[in-house]
Amino acid sequence: MSCDRNCAAHHARFLPSRRAFMAGFACAAASPALPLLAATAASAAPVAPTAADDERFMRIAIAEARRADYPFGAVIVRDGRILARGRNLGRRLDDPTAHGEMVAIRRALAGHGSRSLKGSTLYTSGEPCAMCMGAILWCHFGRLVFAASVEQLATKIDQIMVSSADLAAKAHFAPIQITGGVLADESMKLFDKVERGGRRP
Ligand SMILES: [Zn+2]
Repeated sequence: MSCDRNCAAHHARFLPSRRAFMAGFACAAASPALPLLAATAASAAPVAPTAADDERFMRIAIAEARRADYPFGAVIVRDGRILARGRNLGRRLDDPTAHGEMVAIRRALAGHGSRSLKGSTLYTSGEPCAMCMGAILWCHFGRLVFAASVEQLATKIDQIMVSSADLAAKAHFAPIQITGGVLADESMKLFDKVERGGRRP
């Protein structure tokens, strides 16, 4: 693994974690000049998703993948509420762009408009390909959570060998937090019956 790739991955995977948020609040609260501001900021700040939240939504994405014509599923979440779900429909629609993420994004756009996607979180059972990651960046999602990585998926099926972190690092106009590896083993199990070197419909 080259240094560049490592740095890009590290950059994109840095999260304003629960710990970071709590540390920031403690610091503000400790300042006697800002007690009101600190209280206001604390009440207005969104509750950071926990690891349990991530697993709960990822299970829903994996459930979508189980119903797909190729095992990929995605869920879009805003403020703890599901805006849209999607699963790979490439074979059924004869549409090679009908990846789970794209299907979920199109459904969210149709139902809620593009503003709803800004800052939202997309959960996907497989790390997004270059096409889907481009769409995720153009839609200004705030966070991406994936299960199996591109490198893991490539052991089973064709993949465009660019990571989501690499793409995000080249799109400074669209900052995004990325968390990978959530329930990755469960996601990879979906490929047990997929032919090795198979082509995604
Ligand atoms: Zn894709």
